[in-house]
Amino acid sequence: MSWEVAPILFAISAFEGVRRVEPDDVVLRRGPFGGWRVVSPVRLWRSWHLASVLAPFFLTIVAQSDSDSAATGVDEDATDMRSFAGSIEPILALRVLGALDIVLVVIGIPWAVSSRGSIGLLAVLGCALALSAAIALRSAAISIRQGKSGIGFRKALSFLSPFASPLAAEAALSARARNNPQIAVISDLLGEAEFRAFIRPSVYDVELRGSVIAGSSLEEMALALPKVERTGILKSAGEGCKELERFCPRCAERYSLASTTCAECEGIALRLPTGILPVLAALVFLVGIVPSAQCQPTRHSNKPFRWPLADIARPDSAIDREVRISQDFGLAGPGPTIRIVVSARVTRGEVYVTHWISAAEDSDGVSLEKTLRDGLRSRYGCTSFVTVGNEAVCRVPFARNPNWKRFLARLDSLLATAPPSPAPDPNLICGDGSGWELADRIGTHLRRDASRYCGPGSPERERYEAAMRELVNAINRAAASR
Ligand SMILES: [Zn+2]
Repeated sequence: MSWEVAPILFAISAFEGVRRVEPDDVVLRRGPFGGWRVVSPVRLWRSWHLASVLAPFFLTIVAQSDSDSAATGVDEDATDMRSFAGSIEPILALRVLGALDIVLVVIGIPWAVSSRGSIGLLAVLGCALALSAAIALRSAAISIRQGKSGIGFRKALSFLSPFASPLAAEAALSARARNNPQIAVISDLLGEAEFRAFIRPSVYDVELRGSVIAGSSLEEMALALPKVERTGILKSAGEGCKELERFCPRCAERYSLASTTCAECEGIALRLPTGILPVLAALVFLVGIVPSAQCQPTRHSNKPFRWPLADIARPDSAIDREVRISQDFGLAGPGPTIRIVVSARVTRGEVYVTHWISAAEDSDGVSLEKTLRDGLRSRYGCTSFVTVGNEAVCRVPFARNPNWKRFLARLDSLLATAPPSPAPDPNLICGDGSGWELADRIGTHLRRDASRYCGPGSPERERYEAAMRELVNAINRAAASR
């Protein structure tokens, strides 16, 4: 045994960081330097995620939604998560002991074995176990002092393992977080400016947009804020926006004056910072003054979208997860394509509708094309189409954006128990119906599924496909709601 075992020892210690994270939970992390921020944990299987990373050098906690946590109200003794997280005793003390332990296990053991043999191994192992025992005793003491609201005695004893003991500081912090409402934990750890940026899209949605699939934990959190606080959060979106910029009132992204709508928040008109006259802004725009480089938007809202969409099978480092559901409505043209993108814990969605374009000499075809286009215009509010080959595509401007995160959570609960698709029956010809085809890429893993049920198969599969169709139709109705 020598240095080759170091990665194995590291992997075993990393495995201790796997946590259950439900869709409404929020994961917060603080690095060795700097403040807390919201992060997206790596999803491993179902709701299991690699949440804790490099503990105790990084501190990670999962702020559970109030329905999952034990919080029944603000516990006065347990408030001020921020100063508790920065406390020397017990948090820093547990972190230092945990850091020594993990260094001893991952680096000390291979070094001792390669240079001192079995005597070295026993010596380092003894030191690591002594450190773990100290951490477990310290955690047990905290557990006894804090009673039911603390770490828990059994959990404290689990820190006798040198692989688990680096997580003791996080456990103490998580125990305190569980006794507080999710909103109190997040706002306290993030600080005012970060919390406002985090909750602003949800505040905007509940105040000004409403929600089609309502009830996400973030929206409930936004509704729990006093009205005056919500107004303050929306007003602060324009803070720091310069004269030659516009800002999005929902996500506070800044754009150049040439942009009119936000690329991230479908259909949201950009605003001018207060103090700049709209006429002056229009003049500046007309005479073509180019905004300074720092004012350039990272995403141009008026850029035509890409069609066809990029190959979903090709991983994109900027996208954690992408789901596409295409629907077949028969000869008139394909049904809406639903696209959901999860990036840096933000879930957003798009819906595309398409109609075929006929050759100019085909007068019947041209007349049908006009009917189809008028239909899409009145049904989905499509005023502009991007033409690619013989397709005209419109990205649906939602009057009220669906709650994409909630939709994805419902989709996940269906996919988790999806029965296998029955083999096609060669004696059956399935007609055109409201079929769907799903592609779901998480990182590099791609999963595909499609509705195939027509005729004898399994009743479970039939129920699953019907539930999926119902879910997809909820988005279709939201897209068509004017
Ligand atoms: Zn925006």
